[in-house]
Order: sequence, then structure tokens, then C-alpha cells
Amino acid sequence: MLTGPQNLAENLLQVRRRIETAARAAGRDPASVTLIGVSKAQPASAVRAAVAAGLTDLGENYVQEAVEKIGQVAIATVTWHFIGALQSNKTREVAESFQWVHTVDRLKIAKRLSEQRPHFAPPLQVCLQVNIGAEDTKSGAQPGALGELARAVAELPRLRLRGLMCIPPPEDDAGRQRHWFAQIRRLRDELNAAGHALDALSMGMSGDFELAIAEGATHVRVGTAIFGTRS
Ligand SMILES: *Cc1c(COP(=O)(O)O)cnc(C)c1O
Repeated sequence: MLTGPQNLAENLLQVRRRIETAARAAGRDPASVTLIGVSKAQPASAVRAAVAAGLTDLGENYVQEAVEKIGQVAIATVTWHFIGALQSNKTREVAESFQWVHTVDRLKIAKRLSEQRPHFAPPLQVCLQVNIGAEDTKSGAQPGALGELARAVAELPRLRLRGLMCIPPPEDDAGRQRHWFAQIRRLRDELNAAGHALDALSMGMSGDFELAIAEGATHVRVGTAIFGTRS
């Protein structure tokens, strides 16, 4: 399915309404939820249309594709979020082109990002990805390793540790889905009780962002519901 500019603006409006409804139902200010439009596999033209329709934050998964697209889109006001698996040989491009990285899951990657962040740029905002369902197929730090990782990442000079990110296992049941989001929120609260000041919870995608907002998501990553299905 192709999504033209008109559909795109309409989709964006629908998603914003859903965010607003979910936030209010949870007693939260809708402005406390940042909508990240996930534009992987979408052309620069779709990204520009989305920005023209008011989207300010974009998420990309693949370094090569993203760096090209960021250059093509060339809108300085966009905040770019890296949300894909990150290999150590690609950290420099990410440190140079993005404002946020949501998928830091080991110290080696964090150290490289800190060393390679350009000195003229503000610190790179980072979330630690947690493999909350302990799935073999997914990246992310194990919950038990989080305390040590957070302590080390927080000391890196060119990074600013903001919070946690997860992609929970898919569940048919809303209650079970929500339980994973609640677990991430608890892990964040534990880290804050240990002295951190983490304000970000990056969780929720097209199919489940309302549940994530109910559990405190501050950044929802929405692709399909805005841009249509990816080819
Ligand atoms: C692709 C992707 C999304 C968006 O998924 P949709 O279901 O299209 O909304 C969100 N987060 C991550 C990490 C992704 O890879």
C-alpha cells in the first residue's frame, strides 16, 4: 500500500488523537509523549511530507539507509533517533548523524559513541535497550546486567543517559502485553532509586502504543500507522 501525502497527514492526525486519548486516560499530559515516526524503508519524499504535516521526530533502523536519507531530507529542525541494531563498525556514522540512540545494549558500543560524538555537537542522548522477554532473537541488555551498564554509560562524557527502550515479545492478550511495559517502567524506577535520573521510556509501536502510554512511555515509535505498510 502506498501512502500519499494526503493519507499521511490524515494518518498522522489519527495517531496523534490516539496518543492524546491514551495519555488522558492515564492521567498524563499528551505533550509528555513524543511521537517518533519510524521511516525505515520509506523514501525521503514521504519523510518530507510527514515533517510538513507537523512530525518533528523520526526513527531509522539501518545506518546506510538512514545517513543517505538524512542528507536527502536536509531539514535541520528534525530530531533523528537511531532505533536499529548497532554494530561497532557503524558507530561513527550514528554518532555524527543522530541526536538520539535508543539501542545501546553494551558498554563497548557506548564508549565508541562517546568517543566519536563530534565536539561541536551536544551530547548524544541515549537509551539502554533491554531484552525484557529474554528472547534469543532480540538484542538488548538482560535486566540483571542493567545496573552495571547504566553506571558505566552514565560516566561517559559525550553521552547523556536518558532512559530505557524495549521491544517486548508479541502477545495476543493486552494485559500480558501491558505487563512487559510495566516491567520496563519498574526497572527504570529501580535505576532512579539507585541514583540515576532517567526520564525516558521508549516503548510502544503501531500495534501497542496505547498500552505503553498507560505504563509511562515517553517516546512511542510508530511506523506503519503513519507511513503505511513497508514494501
Ligand atoms: C520498525 C520498528 C518500529 C515501528 O514499527 P511499526 O509496527 O511499523 O509501528 C518501532 N520500533 C522499532 C525498533 C522498529 O524496528
